[in-house]
Amino acid sequence: MRRPNASKPPGDPANRSGGHDAAPLYAEVALPLRLAQTYTYRLPLALREDACVGARLLVPFGRKLLTGYVVALHEGLDADSGLADSEVKDAEEMLDAEPLLTPEVLEITRWISDYYAAPWGEALKAALPAGLNSAVEQYVSITAAGRDELARLPPRRAVTAKAQLLRLASLSEALALRDAARELGQAKAAKAARELERAGWVTITHRARTAQARAKRRKAVRLLPPDSAATDATRKTAGEPDAGGVSRRRQAASGPDGLTEAQRRVVGALIEGGGELLFAELLETAGVGASVVQTLERRGLVEVYAREVRRDPLAGARLPERDEFQLTEAQAAALSEINGSQARGEYAAFLLHGVTGSGKTEIYIRAMREALRHGRTAMMLVPEISLTPVFSRRLRAHFGDAVAIFHSSLTTGERFDEWRRLRNGEARVVIGTRSAVFAPVSDLGLVVVDEEHESSYRQQESPYYNGRDTAVMRALKERAVVVLGSATPSLETFQNARAGKYRYLRLPDRIAGRAMARAEIVDMRDAFRRAGRPEVFSPELLEAVEETHAGGHQSIILLNRRGYSSFVLCRSCGERYNCPNCDVTLTFHRSERSMVCHYCNLRQRVPEACHACRGPFIHFVGEGTEQIEEILRKKFPALRIARLDRDTTARRSHYEETILSFGAGELDMLVGTQMIAKGHDFPNVTLVGVVSVDAGLAIPDFRAAERAFQLITQVAGRAGRGDAPGRVLIQTYLPHHYALRHACAQDYEAFFDEEIRYRRNLNYPPFVALASLLVHHEDHVRVEATAGTLRRALDEANSDRACRVLGPAPAPLARLRGEHRVQLLIKSRSRPRLRALVEMATAAAAATPGCDPNTVNVEIDPVSLM
Ligand code: ADP
Ligand code: ZN
Repeated sequence: MRRPNASKPPGDPANRSGGHDAAPLYAEVALPLRLAQTYTYRLPLALREDACVGARLLVPFGRKLLTGYVVALHEGLDADSGLADSEVKDAEEMLDAEPLLTPEVLEITRWISDYYAAPWGEALKAALPAGLNSAVEQYVSITAAGRDELARLPPRRAVTAKAQLLRLASLSEALALRDAARELGQAKAAKAARELERAGWVTITHRARTAQARAKRRKAVRLLPPDSAATDATRKTAGEPDAGGVSRRRQAASGPDGLTEAQRRVVGALIEGGGELLFAELLETAGVGASVVQTLERRGLVEVYAREVRRDPLAGARLPERDEFQLTEAQAAALSEINGSQARGEYAAFLLHGVTGSGKTEIYIRAMREALRHGRTAMMLVPEISLTPVFSRRLRAHFGDAVAIFHSSLTTGERFDEWRRLRNGEARVVIGTRSAVFAPVSDLGLVVVDEEHESSYRQQESPYYNGRDTAVMRALKERAVVVLGSATPSLETFQNARAGKYRYLRLPDRIAGRAMARAEIVDMRDAFRRAGRPEVFSPELLEAVEETHAGGHQSIILLNRRGYSSFVLCRSCGERYNCPNCDVTLTFHRSERSMVCHYCNLRQRVPEACHACRGPFIHFVGEGTEQIEEILRKKFPALRIARLDRDTTARRSHYEETILSFGAGELDMLVGTQMIAKGHDFPNVTLVGVVSVDAGLAIPDFRAAERAFQLITQVAGRAGRGDAPGRVLIQTYLPHHYALRHACAQDYEAFFDEEIRYRRNLNYPPFVALASLLVHHEDHVRVEATAGTLRRALDEANSDRACRVLGPAPAPLARLRGEHRVQLLIKSRSRPRLRALVEMATAAAAATPGCDPNTVNVEIDPVSLM
């Protein structure tokens, strides 16, 4: 039944719906498994009518049923597939009558699967809103023979599971086995169902459970035109055929006097509401009870029906004013380049390199409006952190209902509704995080990737793809214009601009001639010498805080580590408290008096005595955001301080409220991790203090310097966005590090030149293509064996040494969530060779007994090597 036919393009000529003829029809299906190939299934007659490329199909796989995606239809079996008709299994059920996946989405997921060596089915699954990836459920229906059998059973003595199930099945048309299992137990219910089916007393069908992702309906009322023939038909579909309705309606319509006072209020409210209102709204506005409306309905004056209502993530939000400025010269020049390409309707890629506060967002918005003006659609990707309530509202103010917004805290229902509005063309602009790149829009005119350097564009689970690079590819395939924007472009992107692959647009200055904040390094070695002991805050930073608030301004204090202390140590014996599941130290969280693992979230009480030496000298070392907040509150009791990090923002609303009230001046100081560093525009912030970045520079990753440079430049960009100049103080024990020096000078090019030399000398991206194969499993022996197999397979396929293979070696996080982790790295100057090598090696390893492909994460262009 299986055959590797991964090379079939999605848009085959057999891509059609219908097919009333008896000729067999085969569906090529991608399954959401770690499998490279697609599979062929026969479509039974009943399924042919609805068969279409892009729909979901329920298929048997091994002993299970899986939801797959139809990527092609064929009229016959491919002769050279070597597949006999008897080997091909029948598909179970077509889950959609309309294709969910547009040709564009099929195409881009196909590219992901090729480029990132990711299973196509997994990419397709990632492309659909979560609620649509339904689980499969079994339904039991009683047969006529079953009813006879039930009648023969003695009443009330249905004691066996079989009898109980039969009785339950007789009560509904189709009984969900899951519901029966709640009464009978899972195993018993399943066994009974099988036995009943064998006896011919029930039939079992499989259906996808899509409970959450359904349109939401509410009861609504609309006025019917007084005397039109169509009304009768409408009313019948509304579920109330009424033979006497016509004559009575004539009577009622003959004069307004036929209405009571209450009825007149209902009609009045409906007219006021433009002809229709939600049922509940109508009762409230007209001040009547439901019976009044029902009477009017019987008299054929109004119709009660189910109206689809949209779950709007921004419902009720106050929208900001839409401000229309005169663009600056630099903005106008950049916009006209972008719009020039849009007018020509050809693919073009731009890097928009503009310092923070230079007006990039304004350009994005105007360019998106231009795309709409050309009758095309627009897409904007943002890092999760930028989808602030402020920003979403700004977009809504510009685009109204034409904009669909995706972010991770939407409910499944909201997400489904936004997706559907795009799918049916109601929404023509999509803004969202990474996965919005799969938005089901056609006629794409413009793609914007804001803060393109952000590592959150990278998906950190299979399918491992980068949303930014996928966006560029989507623009290329759909002949759209793509704009990558950043104040601190990634090395890869800037290199592409230098090489002429991207056109370079520069916004060198802040809006309104505002100066960049003045950034200074505070040498903590000096501070230590002066104080004679380590201090969290230097006198310089404390003074600056004092001055800022005395002047009525606000400040931001950044430390990229949450918790109270970074590790826990016994002072007597030196015992360190590590996570038993992960290779990291536990972080002390004072508010909950516990030690927490920041990787697996394990929580332990702090012991009274050291578990190694029984001594009482448990000590907390290093500081996190929780501790610096406490210190600042003590030193500045008059300031209104709020902390934002993953601990305080478990509730999304807390994050939003804090950001909004800081913006409104109801708070003086924000303390937090990198989540406060980016995107926000707070004109009254004049001081940014960075408590320390040294830990970030020490991470064993070739991108550590780039990350530190970006973080400091970004957070420095928060200061001085209003009329008062800003100041940035960076505390460090490494004052001469080039990333810090160049970040202080706000000199991107100088940093780039130094960093790119290092990458070239050490053979790192962008000079080589990089792949990582990470093997993970609880069993250390298995990890070693799999990694060894991979290495041998790689060496065999790499006999001409076109690639360089490193490892296997323990990953920097050698243990995580109870699993051992071993890594192989592959570098090559030839991307096709790298890709081919990875494919051959993983296929060879998968074919080796005892080697489980589910324990190997294959990452092309990894952004983090942890
Ligand atoms: P960036 O995205 O580059 O950080 P923004 O687009 O957010 O910059 O602009 C920074 C601030 O300047 C915003 O408050 C924005 O409303 C304002 N702004 C942008 N363009 C102009 C302009 N041409 N004239 C006046 N104000 C502008
Ligand atoms: Zn852990």
